[in-house]
Order: sequence, then structure tokens, then C-alpha cells
Amino acid sequence: MSEWETVIGLEIHAQLATRSKIFSGSSTAYGAPPNAQANLVDLGYPGVLPVLNAEAVRMAVKFGLAIDATVARHSVFARKNYFYPDLPKGYQISQYELPIVAHGKLEIVLDDGAKKVIGITRAHLEEDAGKSLHEGLPGASGIDLNRAGTPLLEIVSEPDLRSAREAVAYMKKLHTLVRYLEICDGNMQEGSFRCDANVSVRRKGETKFGTRAEIKNLNSFRFVEKAINYEVERQIDILESGGKVIQETRLYDPDKGETRSMRTKEEANDYRYFPDPDLLPLKLDDAFIEEVRTSLPELPDQKAARFTSQYGLSAYDAGVLTSSRELAAYYEDVVRQVPEDPKLAANWVMGELAAALNKEGLEITESRISSGALAGLLKRIRDNTISGKIAKDVFEAMWSSGRDADALIEEKGLRQITDTAAIEKVIDEVMAKNPGQLAEYRSGKDKLFGFFVGQVMKATQGKANPAQVNELLKKKLAG
Ligand code: ADP
Ligand code: MG
Repeated sequence: MSEWETVIGLEIHAQLATRSKIFSGSSTAYGAPPNAQANLVDLGYPGVLPVLNAEAVRMAVKFGLAIDATVARHSVFARKNYFYPDLPKGYQISQYELPIVAHGKLEIVLDDGAKKVIGITRAHLEEDAGKSLHEGLPGASGIDLNRAGTPLLEIVSEPDLRSAREAVAYMKKLHTLVRYLEICDGNMQEGSFRCDANVSVRRKGETKFGTRAEIKNLNSFRFVEKAINYEVERQIDILESGGKVIQETRLYDPDKGETRSMRTKEEANDYRYFPDPDLLPLKLDDAFIEEVRTSLPELPDQKAARFTSQYGLSAYDAGVLTSSRELAAYYEDVVRQVPEDPKLAANWVMGELAAALNKEGLEITESRISSGALAGLLKRIRDNTISGKIAKDVFEAMWSSGRDADALIEEKGLRQITDTAAIEKVIDEVMAKNPGQLAEYRSGKDKLFGFFVGQVMKATQGKANPAQVNELLKKKLAG
């Protein structure tokens, strides 16, 4: 295996979050009854003309600026000709030779923490096709053209990715970015963000790329990783047994965990691309592009850099906490209320809170504990009302009851014991009850210290201040 190198380039389709379609006024809302949102343009009637959606253009420009790309002052829509039952015009309007965005880049963080810049060859505007429906229609297929004409931004990477993990990191970073920019809702189940993975392998040291296979329509990060890993193994097996990889389009079957051939790969010239005579070239001036630039929010990398400098977080923590705008906002809300300990806030948001959300499949915006309530809990850790350990129990009670930390601490009597005399009294009792262990400890069996700590904590139901217990025990046990 180790003498092989994997080469991957991703084509990602991000559905742009416009209210109407890219060339018609039909709604893009998801989930309407079949063909309720398809007008004459979407149905491919003769004599009707496409009109470009200005908002889709603005979104593409936003994206181009955010990846440091060249935004074309002049781009052209082309017809990509092919027959498909859910493509009534017989062609898809896309951009070919002159896309709106080219030569961008995106930085990803690898598993070892190193950073890597991935080139983005181009991002072009195009329309989506409709959908063929087979389920529940024995012996027949239905055509739903609600999706026909939905605006897509196709984002094509350079073949710069070298493993399935890198591909997933890149895809996640893009997913984060398009949501920050509010140009795509990122809903992968509904197909708003999907990926075609181009995969090839070559012997280490070889400078030419191997023949690639393209795995179509992967709509989850997990599938992307699994499909690529399967495909890499498959290609290596073929090459090691003296065979040849053929250039083709493959489908991933998540149930079987394997890729299957779908069709041999068509070449670009098979599509007979030509400029769409119904649409003028798209001209953008500097003033428009600059105006879009001023609308850009703080971008994920900028926010992460600010989190490391302003809150003293590690690059890893900052990356996690800025993975969505909503999560970052929640975190900053907590920090505003507990400004003296941003690291504590980070630990709780990424630890207990993330685990609780994860368990129930909730987004941060659906959290059962508000940022204010979490801050309330952290304040009680900071002022020593409760220990970090008890705080975990309080957190659980807050999660399930929706009540705040102070009310639960009072009601359950969880206040930490910090009174030295009270702790000493418990220590005396524990020592009196365990004369054997005491003698052993005093004759040199240091390991028993932990036993005494445990006994004291048990006797106080975990409420004694751990640091004080340690300190006082040391003195007392020494005799
Ligand atoms: P097409 O339009 O036919 O799909 P492109 O040349 O536009 O072909 O490439 C599509 C994607 O395939 C790009 O992301 C590119 O980086 C990637 N790619 C090209 N050659 C290879 C290769 N040999 N191995 C892996 N990926 C590749
Ligand atoms: Mg392709």
C-alpha cells in the first residue's frame, strides 16, 4: 500500500439560497408537491426566455472573494447538451470556458495539525436538473421538475488532495464557508451540498497522474470518506494485478460500502458546449464587486485567528468553535458573561455541551441550555460554589429540567464545602474508621493517599473542595 499515492479532486455542488430559480421566477423552496414549482421556463417550453437571477450572481461573487479568487468581469453561459428525462430542454445551462470565479484557494487543517492550501480551479453558475421518481410507481417513473432551474454553484478543486481525510477536511471547510456567507443552507440530506469525488492512484515518485474514476453524488462526509477509501483499494488491486483503471463514472452504494460502475466517462467535447444565444455575456464592474466585498462577514479563518489571539485558545479549539457562525456566537456569548476564563468556556462548549447536543442530534441553536444558563453554571465553578465534577451533574440536571444552575445547586444542596474545620472533621472520622490503612500509609505505602481522598469525597457526597481535601489530608496523614 505504502508505495501508492492517492490523488483526489472534488467537484462540489452548492445549491444557492436564492428564493427563486436561476433563470425563472419559480420558488426554490424544498418539499412542494411534484411540479408545483415549475413554470414554462423550467418545463423547457419553446418561445420562453431565461432571465438571470441577480442574487445568484451576487452569491457567486461573494464566494469568489471569500476564497481569494479572480472574479471574472466577463463570463459566459453555455449550453451543455445531453438528453435526460428530467432535463426537458435537452441541455443544461452552465458556464464552461469563462466561469464567473477562477483561481481560488482554501486552507485546511490536517489531522496532524499542519495546514495545507487547496487550489480551487473554478466555481461556475449553473442550473440543476429535475428529478426522476421511481419509488411507489411500479413499472413507471415520474418526473418532478421542481428542482429544475435551481441555482447551483459548482466548485471544482485542483487535484491537490492526497487522502480521504484531506478530502473530508476540504469539504467540511467549504461547507462551513458557504454557510458563513449565507449563500447555501448546507443541508446535505436535501441535497443542497453534494460532492463528486475524482479519485486516482499512482506510484510514489511518479509525476504523471493515474487514470481517475469519478464517484457521483456523495451527500455525507462519512460517505465521501468511505467511498474514496474503497475506490483507492479497488484501483490499487487492479494495478497490482497488472490491470488498467478505466476512466468512468461510478456510484457509491452505502449499504454495500462499495462503488459500482455507472457509465464510461464522457469527454467535455461530447456535450457540444456552445454559448447560450438566449443569454448575454455577464459583465460585472469593479464597483459592484467592491460593494459585494463590503458585505462579507468575518470569515471562518479570520474568526479562528481572532479566537486564538483574543481568547488564548489553541488553533484546534478555535477551529472547532468557529466551525459554524452559530456555534461561534454561542461561545462568544458565554465568554462575554464569564470573561475571566475563555478556556473554561471553550472546554464546556466543546465537551459537555457538544456531547449532549450530539446525543440528541441537535444543532447549537436548539440547545436545551442557553448561553446565559451555561455562563451561570461556569460562574459557580469560578467562584468555588461547586467543583468541576459536581458541575457535570448540575449540567445534566439543567439539560433535562431546563432550570438554571443556581436553583439546582440550592435545591439539591450541592454547594461545595470549603470550610476548613468541616473538612478536617470529616478527615478525622475517616482516619478513625480506617486504622489499618492509616498505619500502612504511615509505614510508607504512599499509594493509599488516593484511598483517603476517595473516602473523604464519598463522605461529603463529592462536595468537599478537592484542592483543600488534598492539602489538609497531607498534613493530617503525616500525623
Ligand atoms: P470533468 O469536467 O471531466 O469532470 P475536470 O478536468 O474539470 O474534468 O476535472 C474534474 C475534477 O477532477 C477536478 O476536481 C480535478 O481536480 C479532478 N481530477 C482531474 N484529474 C484527476 C486525476 N488524475 N486524479 C484525481 N482527480 C483528478
Ligand atoms: Mg466532472
